[in-house]
Amino acid sequence: MIEVKNICMRYGKTVALDGVSFKAEKGKILGLVGPNGAGKTTLMRILTTFLYPAEGTALINGHDVTVDPLLVRGMIGYMTESVPLYDDMLVDEYLTFIGNARNFFDSKIRERLAWVRENCGLLPIWKHSISEISKGYRQRVGLAQALIHDPQVLILDEPMTGLDPLQIISIRKLIRTLAKDKTVIFSTHIFQEVEALADRIVILNDSRLIADGTHKDITDMATKGERITLVVKAGEEDVKGALEAEDIVDDYRLAGIEGGGYSKFIISAEEGKPLSVRMNEIIEEKKWLIKEMRQEKATLEEAFIWLLSKDKKKKRTAA
Ligand code: ADP
Repeated sequence: MIEVKNICMRYGKTVALDGVSFKAEKGKILGLVGPNGAGKTTLMRILTTFLYPAEGTALINGHDVTVDPLLVRGMIGYMTESVPLYDDMLVDEYLTFIGNARNFFDSKIRERLAWVRENCGLLPIWKHSISEISKGYRQRVGLAQALIHDPQVLILDEPMTGLDPLQIISIRKLIRTLAKDKTVIFSTHIFQEVEALADRIVILNDSRLIADGTHKDITDMATKGERITLVVKAGEEDVKGALEAEDIVDDYRLAGIEGGGYSKFIISAEEGKPLSVRMNEIIEEKKWLIKEMRQEKATLEEAFIWLLSKDKKKKRTAA
């Protein structure tokens, strides 16, 4: 289990993490998602004891990363976004070297080497020089080095980078199997990855945690009030002007332009406000031609966009 407690981190004047707290449980995959620069790598580097937080701390199976870093390192397997591999070694030599550094020798290392060769799909390149292997295989060797000591906690920074769709499916399957008896955190800036793999989602934006929950919790957050998709034939600015003037409209965005001069808007209301009733009145008043109006729940992608734009707006208001 991982407990992140109010972590703050700065690089000079840049705030990389600002009071981030959450928990990750054994047996569940936690997806850490956020735009580039949100603070994901910094957080992972603190959890794996490569960086020391300015404030706050994290407990890995009850051990404080700032107090017991060596003990914590033994419990963790860490795969960085671009794993530093030794190009002049063969794949099996490199993994043996990493295993030995983890204090695995003789039958113990042989057993683990056989396991990663099989489970990370390394058989075809087992005796190849690391300098010759493809990006996809480099990722798999990176994953193998993180797993060689059978850690209880697995921390994966952008594990799918550079993999082709088939490799992504097989790595996802492997991570799911591993997560049955481990705590797994992985980061990504691609929301489809969290949708496919994560049981819990933590969203970071601009150094802060802006949402933490299951897929359903996150989509529910973005659908508290009534939410409609509206496709109308009307000037874009006209529709925007009308929506801006309505107090009950919490948020809206232009989701696309369709043929024949129709625009698609996604509009959400303050909780408990009768958005579709009011929209019908506006459409009638303005004499807009309407192709479609339906109520719906936010998809995970829309929830992300909504949460990020809400966070931006909040900051603008505060400033
Ligand atoms: P992410 O992994 O979500 O892309 P990072 O943790 O890499 O985010 O970065 C968070 C913020 O900290 C960004 O503003 C980034 O520019 C800054 N940052 C990251 N690493 C360093 C560093 N070594 N020195 C200075 N600033 C850094």
